[in-house]
Amino acid sequence: MPSTTASSSSPNTDLQQRSRRHVWHPCTQSIRLEAVPPLPIARGEGVWLFDHEDRRYLDATSSWWVNLFGHAHPALNAALKDQLDKLSHVMLAGCTHAPAVELAERLSALTGHALGHCFYASDGASAVEVALKMSFHAWRNAGRGGKQRFVALKQGYHGETLGALHVTDVPVFRDAYAPLLANAHLVASPDARNAKPGEDAAAVARRTAAELEALLAEQHDTIAAVIVEPLVQCATGMAMHDPEYVRLVRALCDRYQVHLIADEIAVGCGRTGSFFACEQAGIWPDFLCLSKGISGGYLPLALVMTRDAIYEGFVDDDVARSFLHSHSYTGNALACRAAVATLDLFKSEDALQRNRSRAARLLQRLHDGLEGQPVDHLRQRGMITALDVREPGARFAERFHMAARAQGLLMRPIGNTVYLMPPYAINDGEVDQLVDSTLATLKAVMATSSKEGARNVALA
Ligand SMILES: *Cc1c(COP(=O)(O)O)cnc(C)c1O
Repeated sequence: MPSTTASSSSPNTDLQQRSRRHVWHPCTQSIRLEAVPPLPIARGEGVWLFDHEDRRYLDATSSWWVNLFGHAHPALNAALKDQLDKLSHVMLAGCTHAPAVELAERLSALTGHALGHCFYASDGASAVEVALKMSFHAWRNAGRGGKQRFVALKQGYHGETLGALHVTDVPVFRDAYAPLLANAHLVASPDARNAKPGEDAAAVARRTAAELEALLAEQHDTIAAVIVEPLVQCATGMAMHDPEYVRLVRALCDRYQVHLIADEIAVGCGRTGSFFACEQAGIWPDFLCLSKGISGGYLPLALVMTRDAIYEGFVDDDVARSFLHSHSYTGNALACRAAVATLDLFKSEDALQRNRSRAARLLQRLHDGLEGQPVDHLRQRGMITALDVREPGARFAERFHMAARAQGLLMRPIGNTVYLMPPYAINDGEVDQLVDSTLATLKAVMATSSKEGARNVALA
């Protein structure tokens, strides 16, 4: 395997050492920083990231699922430079500005004005906090203050601030903070991989929706909302489900007078094949959270869209009936302008249509190349493709990540799930490169896994 660390005095290693001294890296077990030094990235262009020695890496995870049209996109750069000379930021309480207004108008239009109002937040977790608080508060304004609890799905992820974490079911993120968290109801995931013999994905959806119905039938008086990631539960390994589940949850929420919160932070903005994932179920939620891709992967921005009727419930002389939530950078002008320019690119690049053929090519080539490899559940929804590695051995995700670097790929598996979630900017040649390098990485890692596994057993 070629070395991925350069000589000790290079700008790459210098940054790695200084980073370790003063930067506390997210989602990182710091003790592994020696074995897995952070990749020092100097610049990006399209789907590529370059280190300080101009070695390049294909950004196969869209920089944590945020990048859509590639790094340093000329149109996005131009829009931001223009905005920079006009207005970077002004507070959105007492003021307004064109990028915030235009973005809210255009997003509302994309829902056929079903979700007519847009509340801005700052990053994904803050949008989830807003949706949870709004749902509770809307019921309280309607004289139903007893609706105080939330229903979340097993294997779900909604962010890591305390409110968002209480509806997140990922033990490594959650367990240490369990004493601080409110109690959410957790119901079965509609993950299609859990099909029993004779069941298809729609049957799993119906079975798991029935479990939700039993809970709602009994406890709807104390439940404010059900929160779901429509179509793909991303953070727990790209667990995919049938759109039927989202349809059924909408119907149950209507029947039992419970809000539906669609967390489209990862799956929105075209990632699953339609602009909003909910479109594939033919429904609209009561609250829809967007972040990640909405600014094209340029700047932190999040928002919660809701029905005009819910907004109207907060319009009152009584201050206690108003939604006084805010973040200092709420509706940041630069971020909103990046989002408006991103929406323009969906049109000018005909992104959803082009993604269809890219995704089909990726799946076909991956499917052919995986022949005889120890993998299960190759699956795809739009621009998300994933597979599970059988008997991955110890520290699989880390070993895969390091081997991928050597192939010029930036990838971080989740447990034993390898996923490909490239920027929409990827072209056919780059799709082929992505697949070939992924397969080469997998083979290299599997060749070492039996050895590693044996050593680990010995150490245990
Ligand atoms: C990433 C993510 C979040 C949290 O967003 P942050 O910007 O990381 O706070 C919430 N929900 C889902 C579904 C996500 O994928």
